[in-house]
This record gives sequence, structure tokens and C-alpha cells, in this order.
Amino acid sequence: MLTKILSRAECAKCQICCSFDSYDLWETPVITDEVQSLALEIAPQQKFSYASGARLFRMEREPDEDLYFCPMLDRKKGCMLGENKPFDCRIWPLRVMDFEGRRVIVLSPVCPTVFKKPVEEVKALADELAPRIFAEADKTPEMVKPYISGYVILTVEKK
Ligand code: SF4
Repeated sequence: MLTKILSRAECAKCQICCSFDSYDLWETPVITDEVQSLALEIAPQQKFSYASGARLFRMEREPDEDLYFCPMLDRKKGCMLGENKPFDCRIWPLRVMDFEGRRVIVLSPVCPTVFKKPVEEVKALADELAPRIFAEADKTPEMVKPYISGYVILTVEKK
């Protein structure tokens, strides 16, 4: 969805959004029924956790490191879910957050590639995708996280 500002090649080299430390486990994608079924076809032993109403992949901590890799990540080939990856992953580094009772689309400061792009360019894309993103958030409200300082607000939902 973000190919206007982020190429597949850039993502394939980086993969930062597919690994987490214990502080950003909240960033792990919300898993819908469809994604769960597909993930279980790929990895029948995969377990899930639940937090704040959201279904999430259970991830194992790397030995001696505060690091968790998404179980769907093939480090050579990328995401094993392909085009059917969770919606959160399809729009990352954009996120939907609740800012003082309004839903907003924000830019994560973690993506090293998009964060360097002109903000006007990223905002234009967020505005263009807003109807689709907010419609998905209607279906999966668990993807809306409380606002975190440092995330750039790009688009505010119109009332
Ligand atoms: S589901 Fe795929 S894109 Fe999303 S975090 Fe896991 S490996 Fe990365």
C-alpha cells in the first residue's frame, strides 16, 4: 500500500518492523481470523496471545537479547504471509492512534527510510489512504492505539 514512498527492495533489506523489543511489543500486528488461518497453514504450531482485546502472534525472546522476531518472518525471503500480511503491517510505518478522542494517522519514527522522506509526501499518501485505513479500523478497532508522543500526526479523521 505504501509503494509510492517505500520500495519492496528497501523493506527487504531492513525488516526492522518485523522485530520487536519488550518495549514495543504493543507494535506487533493485530491478527484477524483470516490471517490466523493462513498463519496456521504455514506454521500449524503457531500460538497466539491476547492483549487489550487484540489477537497477536506469540513470539519467542531471542536467547540473551531483548529481541523478538515475528514468527512469520523468513529472514532471507521476508514475510511468509506475502500480500496477505496483517493490515497493520501493510500500512506500517503509518499507524492509527487515538489522540484526545479523535482517530489520527501517525508516522512511526522507527522506520529509517520513510522517516527521512519529505513529510509533505508522506502526509499526501496518508490523506489518500485515510478512507481505507479508517474503514479497516472500524472493522478492527484493536488496531487503534493510544497516542504516543513522538509519532508525527499526519491526518486527523474528519467528524
Ligand atoms: S506478519 Fe509479516 S510483515 Fe508483519 S511483522 Fe510479521 S513478518 Fe513482518
